[in-house]
Amino acid sequence: MKKKAVIALGGNALIKKGQKGTIYEQFANTRRSTKSIVKMIKKGWDVVITHGNGPQVGAILLQNKVAKDLTPAMPLGICVAESEGLIGYMIQQCLSNALKKEQIEKPVIALITQVIVDQDDPSLSHPTKPIGPYYNEDEAIQLRKEGFQMTCQPRGWRMVVPSPDPKQIVEGESIRKMLDEGIIVIASGGGGMPVVEKENGGLDGLEAVIDKDLAAERLAEAVEAELLLILTDVEKVYLHYGTPKQMTLDKITLKELQNYYETNHFPPGSMGPKILAAIRFLESGGKKVIVANIEKGWEAIQGETGTLITRD
Ligand code: ADP
Ligand code: MG
Repeated sequence: MKKKAVIALGGNALIKKGQKGTIYEQFANTRRSTKSIVKMIKKGWDVVITHGNGPQVGAILLQNKVAKDLTPAMPLGICVAESEGLIGYMIQQCLSNALKKEQIEKPVIALITQVIVDQDDPSLSHPTKPIGPYYNEDEAIQLRKEGFQMTCQPRGWRMVVPSPDPKQIVEGESIRKMLDEGIIVIASGGGGMPVVEKENGGLDGLEAVIDKDLAAERLAEAVEAELLLILTDVEKVYLHYGTPKQMTLDKITLKELQNYYETNHFPPGSMGPKILAAIRFLESGGKKVIVANIEKGWEAIQGETGTLITRD
């Protein structure tokens, strides 16, 4: 039996703190993040790769905002698809090049992915996720008139959008078949495009974003992966993060982690969804979850770094 993994790359790790986010920086970061993936493939792992898109979709929304008098601004769902294409392309090319250097002939395919959410997901009527550029008050008033929900933050006004819970990856079965054929698939980027099922069986896109770690978990279930490897910009998961009492978690069981999750050690929007993804994956039959630094995925699989979460 071949070993299967879903690898989730952090969008924030592809544009590092302090960087402008030029395409050269993003390619260089992507190249570094693919090193561990090449090692896994060399050792016989079948992998599906997914990735975040926070900074990238923010930049696309800003470009749409600035150029709106010259060319029609695109809605959020389309911007998410654009970011999935842009990041997917970088990973696809960097990984194919790196594999060729190792004389590994495997196709790498980035797939635009749709993710089903519930029509009555509570977040659809109560959007909470701030995204994209900052606006001044006049712009915020105008955007409100256009139907957007806005929130005032210390640096200015931002759009808030729903972030519904992903239920199922539409292309999940096809991705599993591609994996069985030896294809390396990049899927569900940026959490994928949120869609709802219509009564006639069709799909409809939503103005919302899906958390990429929660979508990665659904992807891992769909392909029956044994490992969910979440790569981000910290070395490990910590308790009392960012306080003098900060404590490293090297290895932890599902039950212990659930206790910490329920006592609010992991904030929503950053570590929270990674931990919830880990809990769901192990509860649904997955073997292990590793959270580690994006440049140390292989070392983490060897047990040298990262946080290992197991069923017991
Ligand atoms: P990604 O783009 O990889 O999803 P996020 O910013 O969403 O990145 O999540 C990673 C961030 O989570 C880290 O940079 C860290 O600041 C933050 N974080 C919050 N709580 C914790 C915790 N308990 N342990 C480790 N990191 C944490
Ligand atoms: Mg995140």
